[in-house]
Amino acid sequence: MPSVLVVEDDPSIRQSLIEVLSEHGYAVRSAADGFGALREVTQTPVDAVVLDLGLPDLDGGDALRMIRGISSVPVLVATARDDESEIIKILNAGADDYLVKPFSGGQLVARLSAVLRRTSHVPPTGAAAGAPVATAAEPLRATVVGELAVDPGARTAYLAGRELRLTRREFDLLAFLAHHSGQVVSKRRLLSEVWREPYVDDQTVDVHLSSLRRKLGERAAAPRYLLTVRGVGIKLVAPR
Ligand code: CA
Repeated sequence: MPSVLVVEDDPSIRQSLIEVLSEHGYAVRSAADGFGALREVTQTPVDAVVLDLGLPDLDGGDALRMIRGISSVPVLVATARDDESEIIKILNAGADDYLVKPFSGGQLVARLSAVLRRTSHVPPTGAAAGAPVATAAEPLRATVVGELAVDPGARTAYLAGRELRLTRREFDLLAFLAHHSGQVVSKRRLLSEVWREPYVDDQTVDVHLSSLRRKLGERAAAPRYLLTVRGVGIKLVAPR
């Protein structure tokens, strides 16, 4: 039974999508916002995603790019915007097909099975389905850690649905730590891979870490995401 993740914030539309897809033999999971969708895609593999572009937390285009950053799962976008340039943008951002609202259940099922037919013959881009898609030009992948989402491609970061205003260096630092989340990264490594300048000292890293902490709403004494491992380095984790 193919599994589909339905991402739609309107409860009645969500319910009717779930019903029509269940009736047609799909195992349906659902999410009401972009973060919920990213969490679902990260946690359990799914065969396809039906993604509403008008979501309350993330811009639909950002949500699509972030899904693309962590998974090669086929995405069928549902858009209220019947605007050619918008649709071209969505397809360029990695959607496999789109539907313009309002659409019938029959149209949804037909488009979805066509997308699944097309994509099931294509070998996954990653080592396994759902593996991160990385390209040479974009070595850091989009990452979701707890309520923090970082998209190096679009250079955007969100905390609990709110976009963070970061300086270039703060963003680079956060993206690097998020990419290596769960691992302790030494300051020496941050200097060589984020700063890439030979004459910067450890204190520069500390200064940027403390401003990054402030923007994440935490303190070194009471960290949530950025843990200092004394004498070793920094580790970005999901808060407990
Ligand atoms: Ca919506």
